[in-house]
Amino acid sequence: MNINNNEAPLDDDELDGYVKIDRYNTDKVESIASHYEDILSQLGENPKRQGLLKTPERIAKALQYLTHGYDVDPAAILKSAMFEEDYSQMVVVKDIEVYSMCEHHLLPFFGKAHIAYIPKGHIVGLSKIPRVVDAFARRLQVQERLTNEIRDCIQETLNPAGVAVVIECKHLCMAMRGIQKQNSVTTTSAFTGEFAHERTRAEFLRLITASLD
Ligand SMILES: [Zn+2]
Repeated sequence: MNINNNEAPLDDDELDGYVKIDRYNTDKVESIASHYEDILSQLGENPKRQGLLKTPERIAKALQYLTHGYDVDPAAILKSAMFEEDYSQMVVVKDIEVYSMCEHHLLPFFGKAHIAYIPKGHIVGLSKIPRVVDAFARRLQVQERLTNEIRDCIQETLNPAGVAVVIECKHLCMAMRGIQKQNSVTTTSAFTGEFAHERTRAEFLRLITASLD
């Protein structure tokens, strides 16, 4: 099975294990905003000018959204839709959008994740896999740890015969500052079980590079 998940619907009943993304802690908004007002001043700006008046508050809310993965239990998302099934071929979900924040610079990195597993008694609702990606991506991250955390969560929760994760991202901390390598893409991968075998891994890589057209 080869699922392109670009347009996975978001059903209300599939929000199990999720904190509503428009919910933020008002006390934290005020506290974070006051720090950002100070930061704006230190950068040489006037935080009282009209365009910046609500900026500290907006940043405070945006940052809470961008890190809401801390309030999400990725294993619970998988457990909410695990089914016994006698299917043992590779299941691939590719082109999952990734938006995360580099923990070294608090700048975004973004791109795509491609994930496969080989069921061993259980399958999982396909829409849950992008949500596991999101749960880990919406935290302060490095791409290497993000890759391993997704692999480990699927392996430990679903206990399949193998898991494969490939993530390709552009990092704004590389593109906008320092070395300014604007078009470089960082690729990370992590595998378990059956994907240790060259042939299985080659099949996965062939599937994620294949086009449906
Ligand atoms: Zn960085």
